[in-house]
Amino acid sequence: MENACKPHVLAVPFPGQGHINPMLQFSKLLVSKGIKVTFAITLFTAKSMQTETGLVNIELFSDGCDEGGILEAGSLDAYFERFKTIGSENLAKVIERQESSDFPFKCLMYDSCMPWCLDIAKELGLVGVSFYTQSCSVNVIYYHVYHGLLSTPVQGVSAVSMPGMPLLEISDLPTFLLNSESNISYLKFVADQFSNIDQADWLVFNTFHKLENEVVNWMLNELPTRTITVGPTLPSKYLDKRGEGDDNYGINLIKPDRRTCINWLDTKKTGSVVYVSFGSFLSLQEQQMEEIAWGLEKSGKYFLWVVRAEEEQKLPSKFREEYMSTSVSLPDKGLIVKWSLQLQVLAHPSVGCFITHAGWNSTLEGLSLGVPMVGIPIGSDQTTNIKFVEDVWRVGVRGKVDEKGIIRREEIERCIREITEGEHGEDMRRNVEKWKELAKEAVDEGGSSSKNIQHFVDSLLCS
Ligand code: UDP
Repeated sequence: MENACKPHVLAVPFPGQGHINPMLQFSKLLVSKGIKVTFAITLFTAKSMQTETGLVNIELFSDGCDEGGILEAGSLDAYFERFKTIGSENLAKVIERQESSDFPFKCLMYDSCMPWCLDIAKELGLVGVSFYTQSCSVNVIYYHVYHGLLSTPVQGVSAVSMPGMPLLEISDLPTFLLNSESNISYLKFVADQFSNIDQADWLVFNTFHKLENEVVNWMLNELPTRTITVGPTLPSKYLDKRGEGDDNYGINLIKPDRRTCINWLDTKKTGSVVYVSFGSFLSLQEQQMEEIAWGLEKSGKYFLWVVRAEEEQKLPSKFREEYMSTSVSLPDKGLIVKWSLQLQVLAHPSVGCFITHAGWNSTLEGLSLGVPMVGIPIGSDQTTNIKFVEDVWRVGVRGKVDEKGIIRREEIERCIREITEGEHGEDMRRNVEKWKELAKEAVDEGGSSSKNIQHFVDSLLCS
């Protein structure tokens, strides 16, 4: 029988793959430490969800956009408005329904981009925990924007200085800080993550202390609330020396290829495959996609490329005809799948190079699993992440754009060769091994993230 005193956490992720993964993994960790967790998923998300997670309960609720999610609302602003009214009311009902049960909720953990969830927590007397899914460095930049310490749009300067970071050139800044109509509402939403932090009980960051040492130190001094780093939030299988635990995060919003990738990778030599993936929702321009395709071909390397269904038409026809995983016989030189179990792929010994958009999860995954990266950032925080990959952690290179903003095939080939061949490549492989060990150290018993998590768990168990 379950212990009736178990504290119960309601976890509310923003409904996107890159937000669900780290919060789900953190939730599973809490469960392994004696906390009960219920994961709240929107009805729309549940429609496409492939779940294999037994450890946390799933509770479905309506955010007011059951048919089409954010697209149904028309814009992110409109979506958040609906979430604030309809979604908040439904979440409050979920919490109230539990009140008379053996496991009333004690804590509401919400994605930091939905700060109004803290109002629900405070109104219902729960511990309020804001969970940040981007790097501390990027968050410190947004914190400066929120407090008016960095005026936006950034223009008329060539570089910006931020605490604990190298000088950031304009092309290294999160793209929301730059001048464009569409950036205005995104910038408000990322800056507002700091709007009510002095009322939150905990701020939780998916990073580890040594990775962003100076920035984390600055944040610990500056922020009013209990602030902890708990990452990298990868399933323990990949970080634990015993190699036990789940293969994957546990919720996929796109049906993954489960065996073909791994069977195909099994036929390749150690370090010989370039893995290519641009995350769960951003799109490449057609021309950029073509350049990547021909760059891969020119490099002569084996490649495994994730191309989501809606992007397939942008592929050159040769690639659609020869490399799709649905082909009658499996292609040898390259394989294209619609969605992979990325952790399994990155952990496979055949993978020696990761071409990535440098979303924060992908960056942390590449680094923690020891795969050097080529960055082709599309937007948002990816430009800043790749600056750190290249110049601070020295585990990858950023593809250089031409005057039209495109990274050409010759440049892609050059980047792949820089990673997989030559002295610089060796340096990067050595560095990434070092970071992989430090990531393990952070989550191992006695490591910085592990101690922080225990501190958080103890506070829930004791209060
Ligand atoms: N991912 C995956 N399979 C794929 C591509 C991505 O499982 O084929 C996962 C990846 O492991 C990561 C998440 O999707 O955890 C993407 O998050 P990220 O922050 O890198 O990018 P976003 O999708 O938010 O742009």
